[in-house]
Amino acid sequence: MIPIAKPFLGEAEANAAHAAVLSGWVSQGPQVAAFEADFAALVGAPHAVAVSNCTTALHLACQALGVGPGDEVITVSHSFIASGNAIRQCGAMPVFVDIEADGYNIDPEAVAQAITPRSKAILCVHQIGMPCDLTALLAIARAHDLPLIEDAACAIGSEIRVDGQWGKIGAPHGDIACFSFHPRKVITTGEGGMLTTRNAEYDAKFRLWRQHGMSISDTARHAAASVVFESYIERGYNYRMTDIQASVGRVQLGRLDEIVRRRREIAALYGEMLSGIEGLSTPVEPDWARSNWQSYAVRLDSAIDQRALMQGLLDRDVTTRRGIMCMHLEPAQADVELRHSLKRSEEARDHAVLLPLYVQMSDGEVGIVADRLRDEMAKARRGARPAKPRREPVAVPAASMHTASDAVAMREPG
Ligand SMILES: *Cc1c(COP(=O)(O)O)cnc(C)c1O
Repeated sequence: MIPIAKPFLGEAEANAAHAAVLSGWVSQGPQVAAFEADFAALVGAPHAVAVSNCTTALHLACQALGVGPGDEVITVSHSFIASGNAIRQCGAMPVFVDIEADGYNIDPEAVAQAITPRSKAILCVHQIGMPCDLTALLAIARAHDLPLIEDAACAIGSEIRVDGQWGKIGAPHGDIACFSFHPRKVITTGEGGMLTTRNAEYDAKFRLWRQHGMSISDTARHAAASVVFESYIERGYNYRMTDIQASVGRVQLGRLDEIVRRRREIAALYGEMLSGIEGLSTPVEPDWARSNWQSYAVRLDSAIDQRALMQGLLDRDVTTRRGIMCMHLEPAQADVELRHSLKRSEEARDHAVLLPLYVQMSDGEVGIVADRLRDEMAKARRGARPAKPRREPVAVPAASMHTASDAVAMREPG
């Protein structure tokens, strides 16, 4: 069985966690501080703040920008539910706009048309690792004096050219970027998130809010030579990352180049092997973007039955996922007023298929996926699939990837 994804974790990460456990400090402490410094240096951000996950990062980002009741945040429906939930958590409402015609990212023109006097911020998503058109989005944001939050959950290691300069996502180009270290993303700490910004005031707020609004950190109190009484200067949260997670994150970050290089090789192989299949198109990378290929999405002609194709592949041991969800079609966000067409978003959900892509995947396995996909496409075009009972393609939560057999499979060769 070829899975959709596998975390790339090995002895080095296990040893780092082992050392953190035995260090005497397991909550947010020196490893978190070091992970933040490593991360900031890697993406080229003046400030990086580690938190418990990307959803809490998005919540703090919205709160730092003053997003609150009565406000609107312009974003895509075509994203993981957390992008919208973070806006709702601040008491504000998302205004959903459509994606571009030739990809899965927010359409800058649709953003411009969605701006109202209630608009408080723009939240763009670098979907499945492909950078958004930040040049166009930043121009719109500046023209309307609106801050830009980048949901970069999937985009660690992705690069973009803005103003003639190549830089990593998180540099930051917008006001705040938010990253995820969930096992389904490109590097993982089990759970984890990071905020980057160039704004020192936001940085201070993130540090305050993630730790109960407490005037002094645990580490500073611990190190103090005299007795210190803390105070709680604002209502905060417990959104801390642990030192155990951060120590794993530091090892993962050190291997990011290797990880992204292999992911790009696999994406290029898919591009070659899947070219010329009638009814199927491969993803397009604009010349100003370099994806980390967090996911590889192929697009089917509308005549092809997405579910039948996915079932055919599953029956032949190839796991796939359908295109990115649409929040406006989920009960959790069904009360959002729909003002703009979301036709492309719905079409992308229903006609895109995500293929297996993980660092440990061999060229041979990429070939197996490509061959079986080619076969299944031929069957789908002929409409020759025998009618058989369909198993509902279950959206497997990534947590269920952590089975004993996966733990073995996750181990690196050598
Ligand atoms: C995964 C993901 C999130 C949520 O990240 P967590 O770390 O699991 O909270 C948010 N936005 C997007 C686009 C994602 O893919």
